[in-house]
Amino acid sequence: IRTLYPSLPPSTPTVNYYDWLLGHPELIPWPEFTLHIDGVTGEQRSARAVLERLEHAATALSLSPNDGGLGLVAGQRQRVGILSENCLDYPVLAFALLKLAVPMALLPSMSTLQETVALIKLAGITFLFVNEEMHPHAAAAARESGLPEEYVFIIQGHVTGKVSLARLIEHVVARGLPRVPTQPVRDDTLAYLVFSSGTTGLPKGVMISHRNMIFSTAQMVAITEEDEKGKPASETIPVYLAVLPWYHTMGAHAYMFRLFLFPKTLIVLPRWKNDLVVKAFAKYPITHLIMVPSMTYHVVHSPELAKIDLSSLEYAAAGAAYLPPEIRAAFERRAKNLLFFYEGYGLSECTYSAISLPSPGVFGGRVNPLRGMAGILNPSLEARILREDGSDADYNRVGELILRGPTIAQGYWNNKDATKETFKDGWLHTGDRFYVDRQERFFYVDRAKDTFKVSGKQVSPTEIEDALREHPSQFITDVAVAGVKGERLSEELVPRAWVVLSNMGKEKGAEAVLSALDDWTHVRLSKHKWLRGGLQVVDEIPRVPTGKILRRKLQDEYARGGHQG
Ligand code: AMP
Repeated sequence: IRTLYPSLPPSTPTVNYYDWLLGHPELIPWPEFTLHIDGVTGEQRSARAVLERLEHAATALSLSPNDGGLGLVAGQRQRVGILSENCLDYPVLAFALLKLAVPMALLPSMSTLQETVALIKLAGITFLFVNEEMHPHAAAAARESGLPEEYVFIIQGHVTGKVSLARLIEHVVARGLPRVPTQPVRDDTLAYLVFSSGTTGLPKGVMISHRNMIFSTAQMVAITEEDEKGKPASETIPVYLAVLPWYHTMGAHAYMFRLFLFPKTLIVLPRWKNDLVVKAFAKYPITHLIMVPSMTYHVVHSPELAKIDLSSLEYAAAGAAYLPPEIRAAFERRAKNLLFFYEGYGLSECTYSAISLPSPGVFGGRVNPLRGMAGILNPSLEARILREDGSDADYNRVGELILRGPTIAQGYWNNKDATKETFKDGWLHTGDRFYVDRQERFFYVDRAKDTFKVSGKQVSPTEIEDALREHPSQFITDVAVAGVKGERLSEELVPRAWVVLSNMGKEKGAEAVLSALDDWTHVRLSKHKWLRGGLQVVDEIPRVPTGKILRRKLQDEYARGGHQG
């Protein structure tokens, strides 16, 4: 299935994303607009100030350590981890690294110690930037993963005895040091790693190149209607509430990597917190809000958010997980002046978005939102819907979506097996089931894969099972985890565990074991992976003869009420 859009012009393969985006000053005709506002402190930066800061940061990072820098050089096997909530210097650091063609790893800021240690090791991180609040966590993770503490830096705030990005930049400004040139890249030059469990298993580093980023941003430019592409300087410019995390694909692209293709102001919040969201809406005329479905749910259902005035909103968007139509409708009733509610489907493995709802005027309004995720394929992508036997499904028949095109990642970092399984002959196997009608509209049905989403964040049953098995007391001999229906969003799953007790576990007693295991997950795993769907003891975990867990069987039995507990 091809896209209805015209193809994007093939980009020059050797362009660094930094130059592609920022090398055309005519794209930024009025740089004095306020680009970033810290939603907590109120600090403001104009687009010009941000541009200058990016350059200073690149100079600082590339200076040799003897000269007070980090000595970051392209092609030197250096990888910079960023472990921080959203803050004004996050994009400054990210763009400086792009300019230097030194890859970065976007680390989830809500991770537990073990999770961070695992990712530092997996990505082979050689330098780590963290915000003040997370420094104790980062220092402990660095110790455990063998990263020397002097390679840990501060991206935001102040920690006694630690070097911060702000200080490195001040040093460059004080000495009047010149700009450094943008480093050339190849087709496969890695821009960043972002972590995804994909269809199954443990988190893996998705490898996104500069070329992937160029095509992904070009797609978004192509499908954005003229009237959304910014307005003359004399008129007001859009105000976005930038609250999605920047370590995740959606937040990173929606807010950070596009920087200011079109003039806009971002109100930057460190994370979603009801009181910060209330304050931001009271203080700023927010016109644009991009959400994951759980945020849409909060806006509609949380009593604390009932008082926010959404009348300034013109544009809302949701993605990263399924948004039930009734939640969308309830949101639209609240945001009375909304002009457009955009929905999109994407995944880290295809850089950002793959299928999206066209702006209202596009295609003469021919593509309407129907039930489910209805949208069309982004430019320069090809799609197929595969039946279980691998043949192509007919129109209106459900099958697995596979995608090919210039935004498809190069694979998983240092993981040949998982790469081979998911990226076959250039086709990305998404593990998501769709059907396509004769007008080439795509409808999301469900997922064929093990992994699922809680609050827009990935949950991998295998990862939770591994964590439960690691409980030091060996109370269990076998375990399975699967998603069961939660209470919040009508189609959101939450993790539930089924365990088989060992003799030691039986001695301890089922109730005590389950409670010990539950506590353990709270220490070991990020919040969205906690067993909100409950735990229960079973005699045996159902498996196919090859050993694969029959999760579907457990889910079905639970749904029928056969296994409550
Ligand atoms: P991530 O790489 O974390 O962005 O996760 C990608 C996965 O999120 C996809 O493979 C889908 O399973 C899910 N997803 C993303 N967007 C949507 C959507 N609009 N509707 C349903 N599921 C979605």
